[in-house]
Amino acid sequence: MRRRKFLEWAALSSFLGFSNKSWATSPSLGQEECKKWEKPLVISTWNHGMDANAAAWELLSKGGKALDAVEKGVMVTESDPTNRSVGIGGTPDRDGHVTLDACIMNEEGDCGSVAFLEDIENPIAVARMVMEKTPHVMLAGKGAQLFALQNGFERKDLLIPETKAAWEKWKKTSNYETPVNIENHDTIGMIALDQAGDFSGACTTSGLAYKMHGRVGDSPIIGASLFVDNEVGAACATGVGEMVIRIVGSHLIVELMRQGYSPEKACKKAIERIMAKHKSVEGQQVGFLAIDRKGRHGGYSIYNGFNYALRTPERNEMVETKYMKKW
Ligand code: ASP
Repeated sequence: MRRRKFLEWAALSSFLGFSNKSWATSPSLGQEECKKWEKPLVISTWNHGMDANAAAWELLSKGGKALDAVEKGVMVTESDPTNRSVGIGGTPDRDGHVTLDACIMNEEGDCGSVAFLEDIENPIAVARMVMEKTPHVMLAGKGAQLFALQNGFERKDLLIPETKAAWEKWKKTSNYETPVNIENHDTIGMIALDQAGDFSGACTTSGLAYKMHGRVGDSPIIGASLFVDNEVGAACATGVGEMVIRIVGSHLIVELMRQGYSPEKACKKAIERIMAKHKSVEGQQVGFLAIDRKGRHGGYSIYNGFNYALRTPERNEMVETKYMKKW
């Protein structure tokens, strides 16, 4: 009997084209649930996710790989000078430097990241190159920049006149104090499931506005801002990186999904963990997103106002997440 179930499962898996072998033998998915799959699927943080998803969709809808889709998707946001928290046009640190953090992870568990990178417009592409061309996972600061320049990336001043002017204004009143509020979060985290049934994810940011020089947040940290396990699903984060790092948020969510939580419930649990482990979360936003093997997706945040862009064969829209506290 057990053998028959296994054979039925294996036949269904190969019919659906799932590429991950260990998942193909998973006993946890029934036939009914598999029928509900909407593939491919991509979700990404905040409103700017709509444009990023459109670029990702170009690839995903033609059978492209999730890895290529998430890289090309978030590059749209990085290269958008009107976006104040990613790539060019990103808000600088309190000393006027735009410093970038990014990471990427594929279905094999391969990952790459860059931290505290300056003068390079597309840190996600450098992170991918770290993953593919070096024996390392993470390069930081000058070393990351040198690696990028040696591999054909161009040096570019990312502090544009508008962000320079805003920083000059901030300096007059700030007393050099790093602000903490829920407004300055625009990191883009993107996770995708391709037609072959493989997950990948990417996360990129210029970090918290007017942060201390040298500060690195969660965005380049695999397991914190992003985690992919092809047997289970993927998760990503935005918001106050320190809080996300302390609970290794995205990895936690993937492990909760492994235990059977839906994406939304897993994200909620992670937010609850943040709230339990911090004396106060007053005025500090964190939002998580996740997709599971069944193609279900969801998110959760500390405060209202967090949303994500969703693209599937049927849908192209923003989705509001549930939250713990009203701002
Ligand atoms: N998570 C990012 C960081 O802490 C910032 C953000 O999402 O706004 O650097």
